[in-house]
Amino acid sequence: MPLDNVKDWLYGCTHCGTCKDVLNIFVPACPSGEKYQVESYFPSGRMFLARGVNEGVLSLSDDDIRDRIYACTACLSCEQQCGVYHHQHIFETVQALRTEAVTRGLFNTGYMSMYYGLRGEDNVFGKPKAERGDWAKPLDVRNATSGNVDVIYHAGCMLSFDPQLWNVPRSCIEIMKAAGVEVGIMGKEENCCGGRAYETGYIGEFTKYAEHTIDTYNSLGVSSIVTSCSDGYSFFRNLYPKVGKDMRFQTLHTVEYFGSLVSEGKVTFKREVPMKVTYHDPCHLGRHLAAGLYDQPRDLLKRIPGIQLVEMQRIRENSWCCGAGGGVSQANPDLALWTANERLKEAALTGATALVTSCPWCERNFKDATAKGVAGLQVYDVAEIIRMAI
Ligand code: SF4
Ligand code: SF4
Repeated sequence: MPLDNVKDWLYGCTHCGTCKDVLNIFVPACPSGEKYQVESYFPSGRMFLARGVNEGVLSLSDDDIRDRIYACTACLSCEQQCGVYHHQHIFETVQALRTEAVTRGLFNTGYMSMYYGLRGEDNVFGKPKAERGDWAKPLDVRNATSGNVDVIYHAGCMLSFDPQLWNVPRSCIEIMKAAGVEVGIMGKEENCCGGRAYETGYIGEFTKYAEHTIDTYNSLGVSSIVTSCSDGYSFFRNLYPKVGKDMRFQTLHTVEYFGSLVSEGKVTFKREVPMKVTYHDPCHLGRHLAAGLYDQPRDLLKRIPGIQLVEMQRIRENSWCCGAGGGVSQANPDLALWTANERLKEAALTGATALVTSCPWCERNFKDATAKGVAGLQVYDVAEIIRMAI
């Protein structure tokens, strides 16, 4: 979004500081501000930076300014806590500053591999496009490119190219097949959804992928796209309608789709999974949506025999971010891992032995953080727990 489009919101911030903590419980809300303890890394400071850039007294060519703009995880926690009229436009303002920087050729070197990866291989990691469907090799799953399925499972970049996470998409396919769903995958024909490019200011790349994805899924005549990726899901839901193309399919996240399959009796839990778990709400599955998917994953977990669900202090709308969003895991891994470690410490306080979530970006970041910080917590996607129980 161009900076011009957010000018109405730049002067809304009263600098009251309410966005720094979760309302009423007074625990930190903003990962970047909390890590750096400098006003300009908090949402209120970023609103000041935006005013300065807009008025020409600050310049995006200043590395310190851009550093602060890119150290935002797009968690929207500030938008949840702030009560002033501009509150739904705080990240939009950050995103507009990023767009402005890209437009002026002020590229963040942390995103160069993403940018060239998209241009060359249609994924944010620059991995060979031909390997995109490799995760499904041991499975007997249909190739959806010939238009012979009702439902397409969209793995997304992270689950397609991280072998340590392949148990997630494989579990999803096995659950759907056990339920009798005619599911297929696009394999090497699946592309990035383009959402990460949008969040980091590369609007042209986003539009290209959004248009291509909508055209492709429309042409295949499928009823539904099901995805495990919270980021991708929110982009399909929030950003795709803005590119002006008719979408003749619905997008569902696995937690809501599997909830329906359980309610219809198509998925039943036959095995006990004796585990004390706590659930992490991904920002893109919560605050990024008009109606966050907070109950769906919890309902699924509670229905599984043997699962004991215990809650952290900051949950649902007030959830603390995993740290990986908004391009931070690529451009500022220190901030991403610090934020994840803060969450893991909170999770450990519950006495749970496992942290369950429903986003591969969260899962990857927590796994990286457990390798370096809080040990002893296993990290799972909801689908992996369901797979253990069917
Ligand atoms: S963003 Fe909202 S809550 Fe934060 S300082 Fe500004 S007005 Fe207050
Ligand atoms: S979106 Fe999250 S990281 Fe960014 S300013 Fe708001 S609270 Fe801080």
